[in-house]
Amino acid sequence: MSKTGNSLAEIQKFLQESDHFLVVAHVNPDGDAIGSTLAMRGILRQLGKSYTLVNESYVPERFRFLPGSNEIRLLHDLSGRQFSHVITLDCGDRLRVGDVAELYAPGVKICNIDHHSTNDLFGVANYVDIEAAATVELLYRLVEYLELEFTLEIATCIYTGLMTDTGSFKYPNTTPEVLRQAARLLEIGVPGAQIADRVLMTNTFAQLKILQKALETLQLSPSKKVAWLQVSRQDLQDCEATEDDLEGIVNYARGIEGVEVGIMFRETRDRKVKASLRSRSELDVAKIAQQFHGGGHARAAGCTLDEPLAEAASRVVKVVENAWEDRSK
Ligand code: 5GP
Ligand code: MN
Repeated sequence: MSKTGNSLAEIQKFLQESDHFLVVAHVNPDGDAIGSTLAMRGILRQLGKSYTLVNESYVPERFRFLPGSNEIRLLHDLSGRQFSHVITLDCGDRLRVGDVAELYAPGVKICNIDHHSTNDLFGVANYVDIEAAATVELLYRLVEYLELEFTLEIATCIYTGLMTDTGSFKYPNTTPEVLRQAARLLEIGVPGAQIADRVLMTNTFAQLKILQKALETLQLSPSKKVAWLQVSRQDLQDCEATEDDLEGIVNYARGIEGVEVGIMFRETRDRKVKASLRSRSELDVAKIAQQFHGGGHARAAGCTLDEPLAEAASRVVKVVENAWEDRSK
């Protein structure tokens, strides 16, 4: 199959081409990554296909209630195996799967379903809609297109991805279509309030300790348009917290009155620095993240830097400050 375009028909054709698929989403998976991996599991089951689900990272604790999440394998469970047909979900580029790419057979065929504005249509089959709020929104359309059933399992996974990628139906990506889908999923029986309580309103002690520590590092740039936080490995260790426990903390920085961009810098296990950028209304942070070989969406993006925490922070903050100053030029 050669690269033709960007449509659900392409996806359908790809799914007809093989009986077994490797399904993977991006490293450090969020609700949309896990939700879409598991919604795709439901789709493949209904199609009578077999599948292997994998992610470079562990499934975060708060998503382990999702049906099928215990089937998502880590790389070492699959060592030595090779897959000819791969479905990547919520991945803006081919490298976002991380080390899972080691499982790709030579000449691998990739099906790319995603909603990131920086997506470069890297698959042989692509369904990318950058207007969509979440990758699960695209899987909802796929279920309809293939005339499959919205089982409670599929519905729960899609709802969770919609809820997390729209910040609980608050961000500007909360379109009428998102709410129509969510309404239909609730009608099917998805326990919306229960999911929100589990995923968004329940914190561990470690999560609050690391939040406390992160907030102590809060800084504001000279223009007062950029606010940032930083968390070191030592901080995580002191609080007995994991990188997953940092999810959402960047919103405290972005939410400061008058601030345009909030950033969270965290030291990764391999001593690099992961930056999470969130903008309020004007700056396209995906473009900024791309300057550091990252990507994402206009309002939420990320990148990784290979330098000490403080240096990475000051370099990125400067670039954002300059982007703010140059915004109307
Ligand atoms: P987060 O800051 O929560 O990790 O990511 C925010 C958004 O940017 C997500 O949609 C995520 O997929 C994307 N993103 C984060 N880091 C990277 C990166 O290094 N490369 C690309 N292409 N996208 C990223
Ligand atoms: Mn997403």
